[in-house]
Amino acid sequence: MLLHRTLATLAMLGLAVSTALAGCAPSAPEDLDQGDGSSSDELVTERQLGGSELPNKTLSLTFDDGPGPRTKELAEFLGKEGVPATFFINGKNVPGRQMTLDAIVEQGHFLANHTQHHLKLTALAATDVVREVSETHAFIERLQPDLPFLIRAPYGAWNGRTAKAINATPMQAYIGSVYWDIGGELTATSAADWDCWGKHVSVERCGELYLTEIRSQRRGIVLMHDVHGRTVDMMKQILPVLKAEGYAFVPLLDVPAVKRAIATETSMP
Ligand SMILES: [Zn+2]
Repeated sequence: MLLHRTLATLAMLGLAVSTALAGCAPSAPEDLDQGDGSSSDELVTERQLGGSELPNKTLSLTFDDGPGPRTKELAEFLGKEGVPATFFINGKNVPGRQMTLDAIVEQGHFLANHTQHHLKLTALAATDVVREVSETHAFIERLQPDLPFLIRAPYGAWNGRTAKAINATPMQAYIGSVYWDIGGELTATSAADWDCWGKHVSVERCGELYLTEIRSQRRGIVLMHDVHGRTVDMMKQILPVLKAEGYAFVPLLDVPAVKRAIATETSMP
């Protein structure tokens, strides 16, 4: 905790504490338009902080794009089950749902930054990138002032220019971008929840596809989207199966690549 508090203090002072955001490979241009207004987290061209080094049968659950109408219900369900999760929030969804953020933290989960408006950061000017991060940061900093700050770029769209823009400001306290290992694409052997719902794949079938992908990968950071109610139903369906099969669930802060990035950041002079 001391390290975490030191990090927050340095960040407040605006000191140069981070190189963790720099040095990522550039992402290629992508067509992210789904045609239905839904977000696309599938079209990603680079690897960022992932969970491939987690032990066998170990998962870290992450939920993006909320808070949504059933996020509080999901946070309480997972809390009751003793399963920690990370909620990468979009600040635009917070007004009217402040109590949902409170519940996420009360249930032992972790709040992280998915930016204010879910825009593609790599297409924005530097000042707009920083504003997208800092507006959502205000919600997170209020509830988790002493914990590390983690970011996941919308669509995984991230490059060295984006990192440089953030590192030039107090938002350099952020570590990321956090990627995912499971849940990125809907295929015959894998799933992406938002794409399931957009293509009218049933909750049962989408859950089976997540299980298939998890059994194949056996470890990793799992991506889902709590902004969709059906994702909450699906999580309630597959969690007992995963528990029965012996899967363990760890916080994102315990994922080796994330831990290393935090250690690097906090050891900077
Ligand atoms: Zn997203």
